[in-house]
Amino acid sequence: MPFRATVLTLYPEMFPGPLGVSLAGRALDRGEAVLETRQIRDFGRGRHRAVDDTPAGGGAGMVLRADVLADAIDAASPEGDGRPRLLMSPRGRPLTQSFVRELAAGEGALIVCGRFEGVDERIIEARGLTEISIGDYVLSGGEIAAMVLLDAVIRILPGVMGNDQSGVHESFEAPFLEHPHYTRPAEWAGRPIPEVLTSGNHGAIERWRRAEAERLTRERRPDLLRRGAGKTNGDDL
Ligand code: SAH
Repeated sequence: MPFRATVLTLYPEMFPGPLGVSLAGRALDRGEAVLETRQIRDFGRGRHRAVDDTPAGGGAGMVLRADVLADAIDAASPEGDGRPRLLMSPRGRPLTQSFVRELAAGEGALIVCGRFEGVDERIIEARGLTEISIGDYVLSGGEIAAMVLLDAVIRILPGVMGNDQSGVHESFEAPFLEHPHYTRPAEWAGRPIPEVLTSGNHGAIERWRRAEAERLTRERRPDLLRRGAGKTNGDDL
């Protein structure tokens, strides 16, 4: 069974968007992953199919209604559907490669995209939504965040990356950021490729890459090293 993602959104026309090209696009074309969208407004209330209302207690903006979202979720993922239910949210658990791997190993995901001020808190509890954040900044909606998550998941699904090795040495798959890459021409704008990479000495190349990965991680993301050698980024969440 392919990985199946169901995205609940007020803007289904945003999909597949960037997921329709390159690696993810090919995976969707070949059926290695399935992406479906559901229009939350189809479950709106009244003649105008209202999906939101003013915040209880006052304040700016609008809040997505729990009853509307419940109907949308229940229609998209009936009882017994084992897929995790996610809500894209800046308050959520930070998205990491280890969570991406966990999702990719499963059947798929139901993803709710917030808009406006967010969603009525009661739907999170009542439908067991796991809040996931893609970073410490605020987007105008959950759609782009959902695409980020799905792009990360789809590229590591079995068979999607041509060379199965190409996922192994990347940033976050080890406790280190990835080493630098070079390609032809051998010299460009007065800058040669580091000699070791053209030496043909595979042991030396491997040692150089490892040393560079460690150096970059120490310089840029010492927090990854503190999370524990031998552990993968995010395993301690
Ligand atoms: N008032 C909210 C922000 C709402 S932004 C707050 O301060 O927390 C509107 C929607 O965009 C959210 O419901 C969420 O679905 C999405 N969103 C915004 N920033 C996000 C982020 N960093 N990660 C994931 N989703 C995000």
